[in-house]
Amino acid sequence: MPLPSLRRAAAPAGRRPRLRQALLVSLLALSQVLAPTPARAQGLPGLGDAVDMGVGAERRLGDSIARELYRDPDYLEDPVLDGYVDAIWQKLLAAARTRGELTPELEERFAWELMIGRDRSVNAFALPGGYFGLHTGLIAITGSRDELASVLGHELSHVTQRHIARIMTTQNRQTPMLLAAMILGALAASKSGRSSGDLGQAMIMGGQAMAMQKQLDFSRDMEREADRIGYGVMTQAGFAPQGAALMFERLQHASRLNDNGSYPYLRSHPLNSERITDMQARFQFRADAPRGGLPLRADHAMMAARARVLGRPGVDALRAWVRAAEAGDLAQQSAGARAGTLYAAAFSAAQLNDLPAARTAAARLRESTRDDAEAARLARLLSVEIELMGRNPQAAQALLAPPPGAEPDRSRAHLLLAAQVAQATGQPGPLIPALRDWVAVRPKDATAWRALAGLYHAANDPLRAIRAEAEANVAILDYVGARDRFKAAQDLVRNNAGGRGPVPIDHYEASIIDTRARENEVKVKEQAEELRQQERG
Ligand SMILES: [Zn+2]
Repeated sequence: MPLPSLRRAAAPAGRRPRLRQALLVSLLALSQVLAPTPARAQGLPGLGDAVDMGVGAERRLGDSIARELYRDPDYLEDPVLDGYVDAIWQKLLAAARTRGELTPELEERFAWELMIGRDRSVNAFALPGGYFGLHTGLIAITGSRDELASVLGHELSHVTQRHIARIMTTQNRQTPMLLAAMILGALAASKSGRSSGDLGQAMIMGGQAMAMQKQLDFSRDMEREADRIGYGVMTQAGFAPQGAALMFERLQHASRLNDNGSYPYLRSHPLNSERITDMQARFQFRADAPRGGLPLRADHAMMAARARVLGRPGVDALRAWVRAAEAGDLAQQSAGARAGTLYAAAFSAAQLNDLPAARTAAARLRESTRDDAEAARLARLLSVEIELMGRNPQAAQALLAPPPGAEPDRSRAHLLLAAQVAQATGQPGPLIPALRDWVAVRPKDATAWRALAGLYHAANDPLRAIRAEAEANVAILDYVGARDRFKAAQDLVRNNAGGRGPVPIDHYEASIIDTRARENEVKVKEQAEELRQQERG
């Protein structure tokens, strides 16, 4: 039985073929059969007890879920937003390491990878094996990186404390494939019902999500532990403690409005009185305390604006954000708020294909952020994107160079945009070594491998291009897809070796391809064996 992909499970009810419906129903039935099990009454171990599901088994389960998520159309590969979130994430990981919660063994064996989903609903979640999900909707509602850090620190702590292994073991002993299917089903169900705007559809999905999540929810004690340790991790990482308080306040506000539909995070993390009391004890936090304890930084406002636009808000919202930049009171706004407004306007105009309006807003944004190095860097990257969309790679190239006195931008987003510009200008050569070095250190960066493949194709080097495509497949755990590309590369060698064909063959590269193809074949077999075992189990 194949795992249900999110795309299939999330298809609108009216158009969903019967088979898919049957799959969802069977998942629902399964969870209802399992639901009556009073897990806690039957001896859920205390937080200090031994963990049953091994690290290796949890990682394999996580890999099988991640493999599906990488293929999901809502999986977002946005180097600019990734870069902003990853900087926060790396600080949290470093703090967890220092505090001893992230042990060397766990660090080595889990993925510690954060996947951003293009979804307007407010959600973040921990998955087995050190994978994490974060919706653009959650980034969009935060007012500071400290708030974002508080949510991520909480999710990180669920994994360092091995909470997932405990619920996987104690609730029921399902086969990994069934567990993966349940988790994917719950994720699909928690997505915002953007496809049709059909409220009934959203409610059906919500009901299924709740039924399935009963199996997958953490206990109250686990939530309190993740709150406590997550708070320690985020403050150790240098984030402002008020970030946690402000995030709680934001969620409390939403739960008072009963806005659980667009806040799946609240369904899995109900704000019960214990959590609120704990939080209040952690620092003097009053629910009626004035907002705005943290200043709105320009870089955060810009990235929250980007997350809003990437959440596919619809044409009307995009137009409204373009108009907001024309409002007269812009000069009275704080520098941070103004940067957010202008960023949303420029990026929205670009999505609407109104390049002149995008350029105008982006130029105002660059002017407005001139004295803030990080905000100015993000503004330049946005202008590069806009010029690429406008098929003006020369202008994009000029914007890639640092302005006088500024540090060169060594970020991943800059590198990947430079690769796009190099391809568009037909001058891939100078950028190939930089990207090759990048993937040599970060072989799991599928986006970088794809960019490198594009450059090799542009440089008329099909052999290296095809191998880079294969490596991109390996990076997203698609070993069967990788096998296909490695075979294509080996065929190319066979047909052109010894000057038999038009493609010159580098024998060193050809031998690397043979080695990598053999290594990949081992992975293909392992994966097939795992599926066979799961079917038997
Ligand atoms: Zn939690």
